[in-house]
Amino acid sequence: MKTYDVIIIGSGPGGYVAAIRAGQSGLKTALVEKARIGGCCLNWGCIPSRRLMESAKFFARIQAQAAGFGIEGIDNAALKFSWKKAVAEKDKIVTKLVKGVEFLMKKNGVEVISGEAEVSGANQISVAGNSYGFQKLILATGSRPDRKRFAANLPDDFVVEIDDFYARADIPDRIVVIGGRTVACEMASLLRLIGKQVTVVASQSKLIPGIDPALSNYLLERFRKLGIRVLLESPMPTMAQHGVKIGEELIECDIVLNCATRAAVLPKLNGMVIELTDEGFVNVNEFRQTNQPHVYAIGDVTGTHYAQHASAHAGVAVSHLLGKPVRINDAKIPINIYTDPEIASVGLTEEQLAERNIPYMKGEFPMQVNSKALVEGNTEGFVKMLADEKYGEVLGVHIVAARATDLISEVALGVNLEATLDDLYAVVHPHPTVSESIMEAGFKAMGKPLHI
Ligand SMILES: Cc1cc2nc3c(=O)[nH]c(=O)nc-3n(C[C@H](O)[C@H](O)[C@H](O)COP(=O)(O)OP(=O)(O)OC[C@H]3O[C@@H](n4cnc5c(N)ncnc54)[C@H](O)[C@@H]3O)c2cc1C
Repeated sequence: MKTYDVIIIGSGPGGYVAAIRAGQSGLKTALVEKARIGGCCLNWGCIPSRRLMESAKFFARIQAQAAGFGIEGIDNAALKFSWKKAVAEKDKIVTKLVKGVEFLMKKNGVEVISGEAEVSGANQISVAGNSYGFQKLILATGSRPDRKRFAANLPDDFVVEIDDFYARADIPDRIVVIGGRTVACEMASLLRLIGKQVTVVASQSKLIPGIDPALSNYLLERFRKLGIRVLLESPMPTMAQHGVKIGEELIECDIVLNCATRAAVLPKLNGMVIELTDEGFVNVNEFRQTNQPHVYAIGDVTGTHYAQHASAHAGVAVSHLLGKPVRINDAKIPINIYTDPEIASVGLTEEQLAERNIPYMKGEFPMQVNSKALVEGNTEGFVKMLADEKYGEVLGVHIVAARATDLISEVALGVNLEATLDDLYAVVHPHPTVSESIMEAGFKAMGKPLHI
């Protein structure tokens, strides 16, 4: 039986990043994958979504803004969005990135084993009838859509799971999106931008629970303006002729896109007892260690975050395997939401500050006043800065803006380093940049606004 220092099951961003680090650390490493290298993120999640969203934004922008940028001759009535061509271009990018990860496995001495892994002993897995031994095991097996939660009353052939959506050759005109969290809101934006009739149906009372209320409210209002219908605190949809019924109301639609809550994917454990949370995710400590000290779990399978960067960051579990403890502070992991405009957030929300009785200063800066946003024609949104009242420590930053998901990294660094508003001010922000809006929100929070 071949044996390894570490075996990782699942090659998504959690698994392959852990594999790279393990290989670089000189550990004899194997990575097992039953589908295509790269997992959800590369193959049916982040990258497909982000590319199709760029196509959709490009399409909508040409219609709405070309004339304002001095471009003549565009006939909006003649513009058409080709889902098929956009998907084909997306496939090229996915293939390139998958090959890149395959190359990185070779470069870092990681052995890739193809097939479905199951645990077959305390220190052993089997894949397609072959056994492999390990000292340490990392479960990075990801998550899958959970039909049972909200789409259970609908027939299979009417529901499209988000994980299968980009494999479709075409999409119909009227779509009900189930779920009010990140992926559901991203999909609703994308589909609306390419002219689809979209209804969002969610059980919760607000869009994307957990984010700062200013962002959630903004998104709801934005959806209304874009013509996306949002039904919150909704009962489970049931099937009807020509669509679905929400309570007594008929929503005419051609398909239902299920973006509701996800469930953990676990390999067959064959007697190994791994503690799970009430929701069925793997219970881990801050080092991503399970109740079995030699078994770790990272990424979506732990149910802590559903994000590439959170999974990849958890790849640091490997440092712990080497006896170098690295704690993961979940509270400081940024949240990125790729709607139009984008939303991003790090640190505490205003609700959390109030709950914890932390006195705070607040500054908001609207994108309408930022010169780079104006020249780019992207004036939707704002930066909201929350800082501790006594020392000015930056405690939370919440952004709606065209490139919010890039802007957040500066303040994520600040929050991680316990930076103060003075520290932000001391950093020269070049002009004109959208990032000046972060400095300006900081000035506002200090009570010394500059350009507003
Ligand atoms: C539509 C969509 C868009 C998204 N967009 C973003 C985004 O823009 N930004 C972002 O940060 N996050 C995004 N996410 C979330 C992100 O894709 C996931 O959080 C991330 O991929 C999770 O990584 P992971 O390594 O934990 O698991 P996964 O990426 O799910 O990988 C798990 C891998 O394990 C394999 N596997 C499972 N069981 C076994 C087994 N027994 N044997 C062998 N292999 C096995 C699976 O085949 C899979 O390849 C998106 C998700 C979706 C669905």
